[in-house]
Amino acid sequence: MQARYHVQITRAAVGDRFTRADFRRIVRANLSQDRLPNLVFHPELHFDGGALRDAQAYISQQRRLAVRQLLAHSDRAGALDAFGRLTHTRQDFYAHSNWAALWTAQQGGPDLAEPEEIPICSDPLTTPGLRLGNASAIHYLACRVPVYGRWHVRHLVPPDDHETMNLDHPGRGPLFPFAVAAATKHTAVELETLLRMLARDGGTAARELFLGDLPAAE
Ligand SMILES: [Zn+2]
Repeated sequence: MQARYHVQITRAAVGDRFTRADFRRIVRANLSQDRLPNLVFHPELHFDGGALRDAQAYISQQRRLAVRQLLAHSDRAGALDAFGRLTHTRQDFYAHSNWAALWTAQQGGPDLAEPEEIPICSDPLTTPGLRLGNASAIHYLACRVPVYGRWHVRHLVPPDDHETMNLDHPGRGPLFPFAVAAATKHTAVELETLLRMLARDGGTAARELFLGDLPAAE
């Protein structure tokens, strides 16, 4: 998904829960997932290349890392970074899977459905018919060659490749708003999930510390 939509989704989902500085930090960590080496060599950071199981595992691992950084190492910045990274991966799920296509098809097509009504995919590993685009570094790079890239997309990229399936920006068609809506809902759910883990392991003080809430005056 293009950077501006990651920012927009993150702001809509959790922007009002953090100070501006903390929100900027979360967004920086989110966007750092799209550096070129991460794009080409780490499909699991973007729910690409069929890396469904690895991507889910990555999100769980970043959640645990956030808890550990805050509670064991008093590293709140590190915890915010881990949360920012996992929001990116979660948001990419909706841009790189066929979840929006599956759900809108059940409603009779995108014209008969409202983006706000799309549910989140709470368990991608057990959802029937769910699939991700294939990640091919060759197609990824070829599609970005000026002028030639457009021809390459049209003639050489298979239908199950990331380049033909992705919902990375509005130009990808009517399913894009559904991907954004579901990604926004799920980003908010990711924050709640992490806050629950923090409260479980460190009490409400840990939860408030992560959010940057000042402790109540005695
Ligand atoms: Zn990405």
